[in-house]
Amino acid sequence: MINFNQPHLTGKEAHYMYEAVFAGKLSGNGKFTKRCQAWFEERYGFRKTLLTTSGTDALEMCAMLCELKPGDEVIIPSYTFVSTALAFLREGAKVVFADSMKRNPNLDAETLEALVTPRTKVIVPVHYAGVACDMDAIMVVAEKHHLLVVEDAAQAIDSYYTSNITHQTSPLGGIGHLAAFSFHETKNVTAGGEGGLLVVNDERFVRRAEIIWEKGTNRAEFFRGEVNKYGWVDMGSSFLPSEVNAAFLWAQLENIEDIQAKRKTLWETYYKRLAPLAAKGAFTLPDIPEYATNNAHMFYIVLPSLEARTALIKYLKESGVGAVFHYLSLHSSEYYKDKHDGRALPQCDRYADCLVRLPLFYDLTIEEVNHICDLINTYFQ
Ligand SMILES: *Cc1c(COP(=O)(O)O)cnc(C)c1O
Repeated sequence: MINFNQPHLTGKEAHYMYEAVFAGKLSGNGKFTKRCQAWFEERYGFRKTLLTTSGTDALEMCAMLCELKPGDEVIIPSYTFVSTALAFLREGAKVVFADSMKRNPNLDAETLEALVTPRTKVIVPVHYAGVACDMDAIMVVAEKHHLLVVEDAAQAIDSYYTSNITHQTSPLGGIGHLAAFSFHETKNVTAGGEGGLLVVNDERFVRRAEIIWEKGTNRAEFFRGEVNKYGWVDMGSSFLPSEVNAAFLWAQLENIEDIQAKRKTLWETYYKRLAPLAAKGAFTLPDIPEYATNNAHMFYIVLPSLEARTALIKYLKESGVGAVFHYLSLHSSEYYKDKHDGRALPQCDRYADCLVRLPLFYDLTIEEVNHICDLINTYFQ
């Protein structure tokens, strides 16, 4: 059986975790936490980063930092993970769901402005499969209406966007005011199963982000010697991961080049091998717009119908391959369907019905990818 996903070990994880344990400081914000945060700040130029216990937590911190009032509206794609919406809903916001693009599952920036009302406060683009949203168009709408932009970059480590306006290339997570990454075991790098990162790009949020992270206290400033005592100064929660998780993550970050190179080779093998069937109209291949890079987070194909997808997943399962569908439309979920304003979101529904993800993880071999492609080719003949 070829599983859909399998977490990868670089070899140094246990070594660094052992080091963290015997350093005698296990709680958060220690040596490995600081090392990981500095790595992100140096490599990608993020203004300030804070490790969190999950991507969901990082999104919750983003939502808290937006200081939403009841009735404030947040625009979120319906084709995303529950946490993207839930983080803002928990803060009392009204979630307004946007449709996906026809070319790929990312938020459709062309229909975005029509969703903006006087109550709109935040737009949350999700970089699906690690492929950039149309950020020029999204930032134009945000600036025109004075909105905050929170990037859900959970899948988007080491991926970039090139602006057609400034011709500048920026790392995903470095464009909006705030961003969230995930180090869940299904992502390109993991912090030992669960983990995340808050990115603060706008200086205005730096101080409050640290306070929220440290349970509403100014403990971080105290340990830097900036204040002579620390206490309760604001809202907050416990968002810090333990040093053991940060140590695990460090072993993965150290190997990012190797991890990304291997994943891209597998991804490109799928793409090349499946292109002839796509040309015949059996399905469509992943779309990487001219402004985006590919971080090989995911390899997906989009079938013409729900029936065609269900049949392919069944065939692959019977052939020993774990292929899976992905999100169900949040706007028609059991929890939100009565709160949704009733607009149809046809592209979102199409991806919910027709998208299939194929196995893609570091320890998958080229031979296995070729075998999966052979099976798919046989199936469509
Ligand atoms: C994985 C993921 C999350 C949640 O991250 P966790 O670390 O699992 O909490 C949020 N949004 C998207 C788009 C994701 O893929």
